[in-house]
Amino acid sequence: MSHDFEQLKETDRFIGLLREETYMHRIGVLTSGGDSPGMNAAVMAVAKAARYHGMSLIGIKRGYNGTLCKSHHIEDDMLELDLDTILDIADQPGTYLRTARCLEFHRPEMRVHAVNNIREMGIEGIVVIGGDGSYRGAQALARHGINTIGVPGTIDLDIACTDYTIGFDTAVNTAMDAIDKVKDTSSSHERCSIIEVMGRHAGYIALWCGISTGAEDILLPEKYDYDEQKIVDHIINNRRIGKSHHMIVNAEGIGHSTSMAKRIEAATGVETRATILGYMQRGGSPTCKDRYYASIMGAYAADILVAGKSNRVVCYRDGKFVDMDIEEALGMQKDISDYEYQIAWNIR
Ligand code: ADP
Repeated sequence: MSHDFEQLKETDRFIGLLREETYMHRIGVLTSGGDSPGMNAAVMAVAKAARYHGMSLIGIKRGYNGTLCKSHHIEDDMLELDLDTILDIADQPGTYLRTARCLEFHRPEMRVHAVNNIREMGIEGIVVIGGDGSYRGAQALARHGINTIGVPGTIDLDIACTDYTIGFDTAVNTAMDAIDKVKDTSSSHERCSIIEVMGRHAGYIALWCGISTGAEDILLPEKYDYDEQKIVDHIINNRRIGKSHHMIVNAEGIGHSTSMAKRIEAATGVETRATILGYMQRGGSPTCKDRYYASIMGAYAADILVAGKSNRVVCYRDGKFVDMDIEEALGMQKDISDYEYQIAWNIR
């Protein structure tokens, strides 16, 4: 795509800052791993930044699958994106570029094939929007000399280097609304309800939804001791003091909500039902917070790519947007703070 620099200069409101000479001329962007609301806002921000820097932008489809050019139509794997093609996707749920896991990308020879395709397309750097796994793919590409910058896109908030991940806010609000509604009917029927929320290895969605809905029990994979008797005693005590419902927010990583409900009902005599929220937590219009943070992070990623950085991830830490080496980011551990966990138990 050619750029009419004179027109850009006239129309761009950052006219004074537009760079005549850019370090790069063409970059790519992809979304990978689990989808999360707000990914589109990040892609849109990368597209705006690309225009601002006078670069063309290639949208790589279906995560790393797109780099392998598996389909017969190149546009189905890698398509030129500009603000006219993608229009206003910042408010759209899902991901315009589609996402997928790409097991072939774990194989070194397939990555060499990907690198050749990327070079052939003239792509000089890639913004990768996804989780920890996608960062490893970005790191592998960087080792082959393709500049890469990661942006945290996951509803699970399970990336250690950042206090915020794109999609978490929408997901917790969706889950919170659903839990509120189940609580209404649980009170009417004087039931115990187990609501299973997403989070295979991380209990952040359960923790946030549990605290914000005033759940009686919150079960987190990081902390759960599998002592169901404690839950049974808690339900019986609550019945004695006249509570009409008992809400248990259970994380996917613990799972088995349906069988847990049967055991609890048998032990307490209180009707107990399980509701598994599932994929609905990945959908829906992104919240303002997700759109905003995704927009800043997408733009930041493109800006540092243009500035010549590679093998970095964009993070939100201690109230600031910063970037960090991927290796360092992947080596960090994240755990639910004891204080927040204590609060979850104190409010039982
Ligand atoms: P997420 O990015 O949400 O953590 P995954 O762990 O499934 O999701 O990773 C997404 C994709 O990233 C994988 O399907 C694969 O294509 C790529 N990937 C993950 N780990 C590696 C790795 N060690 N080396 C190369 N590519 C990887």
